[in-house]
Amino acid sequence: MDATKITEIANAIGGTIYGEANPSVDYVTIDSRTINSAKGALFFAIKGTHQDGHRFIANLYEKEVRAFVVSDIPHDLAKMVGAVFIVVEDTLDALQRLAVWYRKQYHIPVIGITGSNGKTIVKEWLYQLLHDEFQVVRSPRSFNSQVGVPLSVLLLEHNAQLAIFEAGISLSGEMERLRPMIAPEIGIITNLGQAHQENFSTMEEKVREKLILFKNSKVLICSVDNDLVYNAALAATKLTGTQLFTWSEKGGEADIIVVRRSLGKGVELQVTYEKRQLQIPLPFSDAASIENSLHCIALLLYLGHGNILERGSMSNLAPVAMRMELKEAVNGSTLINDSYNSDINSLTIALDFLKNQVQHSARTLIISDILQSGKEEVALYREVSRLAVAKGVTKVIGIGPAIYKNEKLFPQPAEFFLTTEAFLASASKSDFRDEAILIKGSRDFGFERISAFLERKVHTTVLDINLNAIIHNLNHFRGLLHPGTMLMAMVKAFSYGSGSYEIASVLQFHRVNYLAVAFADEGVALREAGITMPILVLNPEAGSFATMVEHKLEPEIFNLTSLTDFAREVEHLGMQDYPIHIKLDTGMHRLGFISEHLSGLITALKSSRSILVKSVFAHLAGADEAKHDAFTLEQITIFEKNTALLRQELGYDFIRHTLNSSGIERFPQAQFDMVRLGIGLYGISALPNNPLRVVSTLKSTIVQIKDISPDESVGYGRKGRVDRPSRIATIPIGYADGLNRLLSNGVGSFLIRGHRVPIIGNICMDLCMVDITDVKAEEGDEVIIFGETPSITEMAEKLNTIPYEVLTGISRRVKRVYFQE
Ligand SMILES: *Cc1c(COP(=O)(O)O)cnc(C)c1O
Repeated sequence: MDATKITEIANAIGGTIYGEANPSVDYVTIDSRTINSAKGALFFAIKGTHQDGHRFIANLYEKEVRAFVVSDIPHDLAKMVGAVFIVVEDTLDALQRLAVWYRKQYHIPVIGITGSNGKTIVKEWLYQLLHDEFQVVRSPRSFNSQVGVPLSVLLLEHNAQLAIFEAGISLSGEMERLRPMIAPEIGIITNLGQAHQENFSTMEEKVREKLILFKNSKVLICSVDNDLVYNAALAATKLTGTQLFTWSEKGGEADIIVVRRSLGKGVELQVTYEKRQLQIPLPFSDAASIENSLHCIALLLYLGHGNILERGSMSNLAPVAMRMELKEAVNGSTLINDSYNSDINSLTIALDFLKNQVQHSARTLIISDILQSGKEEVALYREVSRLAVAKGVTKVIGIGPAIYKNEKLFPQPAEFFLTTEAFLASASKSDFRDEAILIKGSRDFGFERISAFLERKVHTTVLDINLNAIIHNLNHFRGLLHPGTMLMAMVKAFSYGSGSYEIASVLQFHRVNYLAVAFADEGVALREAGITMPILVLNPEAGSFATMVEHKLEPEIFNLTSLTDFAREVEHLGMQDYPIHIKLDTGMHRLGFISEHLSGLITALKSSRSILVKSVFAHLAGADEAKHDAFTLEQITIFEKNTALLRQELGYDFIRHTLNSSGIERFPQAQFDMVRLGIGLYGISALPNNPLRVVSTLKSTIVQIKDISPDESVGYGRKGRVDRPSRIATIPIGYADGLNRLLSNGVGSFLIRGHRVPIIGNICMDLCMVDITDVKAEEGDEVIIFGETPSITEMAEKLNTIPYEVLTGISRRVKRVYFQE
């Protein structure tokens, strides 16, 4: 944002200033973990359902942040010399009011985009089309929420000529809050789907709510081919006097008439507008991309920029990478490929992601020239350099004439090249070892070649892990907890097959209280990858006690032998009060002390000074099934009684926990002090209707297609038979990858181009075949083995097992790809 005085901000948001007023701020943040620079920062302490920003003020003060917007005055205010606090009633409301006030200073065309799908793509494409000619400010990524919108609007700076913001809602009433912040002069409504339908009774209600964004707009762009959207838009604009500017591909009455023609790889659109005709080639042919393009074309024509279309710029539109990918790279390195776009805002977000790769101490940034930033060159690269330092980058590789020219601005070890070719010609894979590498390049630089060069090659079957979905699921379960209840996340068995430090670092970043692993070596691997939070080891083996102590891993103690052995080891190492976790057996009958063993346990605990009971816990045997509820309640009663006895006898307090994922969902009264979240984190719930998101998608590609006739057979034992001429596709996944052989011969099916295709014949070790006769498919097409559909649960049911086994059974040779949207 433009430099703004604290007093002005306090005025705008109706807050009271405490402390010395410092001169001005130039950016706003709500996340204490992603501060770019303390100078010029204004931190809004937002109270969410799960976190309270106020808790991080002291820490930020230490990092030299000096300006805060709060609703609670810190009790140690006097200690924070030189800091200024603006006190308001509600900090989120204040952030939004600041955005409304700030927006009013700008008299430039602002485009507001809403709709169920395509918002981000339309926004990014408009940016691609317009940024050569205008200084465009836009929402970063999909910043379209109650928090994302104000943060986007506050990115406006004095040189901006045009702004594009997206707005997303899931509840009624929300759009009315977003509207004055964006205050769009021009609106675009993309389309309407089922997303976020749960809080609206009808689709009509949802579209009406979305259209509130355009109440004071001059014009609204929409398609007349979508009846639902068009009728609602007609009704809404009639009331407000907003002009409708429409397009149609189905011969409807509209400002822009479109006819589509297939064209090799893509399509050509013949567009008629004001008696003028334009031929516009597009590089893709799917319906969604064409619809998104038409919204862009309509906007350009409305603005009188038809010349941009004539230049053929639509045929250069690049697919918008909606995600930032994390992959294994050469020599134990990790590669983050952020092809999303290249500008300072997205660089900041990607650098934060890089910084969280705590498993590597070396962090390399490979960055191209940043084009069309609108900033003066030296200032731009000084900013890049400052960000790189702030985010802990240890090496910079700059590619492009502009960054090359400014190499002196980079203090850390750095290398510079004029072109991507020059870099590739001089680089060797052995230059990269045990480091996290972020590649971030403008499209013109073709950085996909660098990513192909650095990526570790494995076969095409991958398990996609959606880190946003994990965070979503974590927050859902947090929302079920009573205030103050702690959360332990289960990352045993390679995080239920999803990865080790990759998941653990996300959980550490999101301030989970504890992690639990099955064996000591899993814990050691996490420590070596830089995980510093407390870790419980569920099955500590006698031989691993010394290693555990050395790595600060805390054992589950389930019998007297392990208790005395562990205590002796700790004593031997000369330590005291080492945290241990006592496991009680309340009916699971696996590991733990039963009620009759308690007196012996108490005597042993009292006689050892080397250890300290950090927590006492038990495991439920049937928390996911109503038919066991009486038994579960009995387990809970025994747990309560036995922990009370231990507390009384030991004379000190410890953490009590007994709920697993289904327990959290079904027994809120038994949260005690902490819960243990396992499968729920990975998207599986005990409840039929649940808001959990799918985390893992196992996918592959078709490597070969062949036609067979009914007298032929497919695969081993000639088990695959057909009764008509058929097409068979071969997929590189077999039982050695964890695809259970019991799914052979039509028991299991996959998804290709949205259609179910049955497995034909026996599954082989590394390959299997599917019958694609009824689907138009080509070699190279993506195949979904499980994900949204077929779901893991469905596959587990077919195998007569539980989702846990399907998830943990995916072999380690299947590459895991982590991504953030
Ligand atoms: C695995 C495990 C959990 C988590 O169970 P979910 O059903 O996956 O939530 C909790 N506690 C213990 C002791 C476990 O072994």
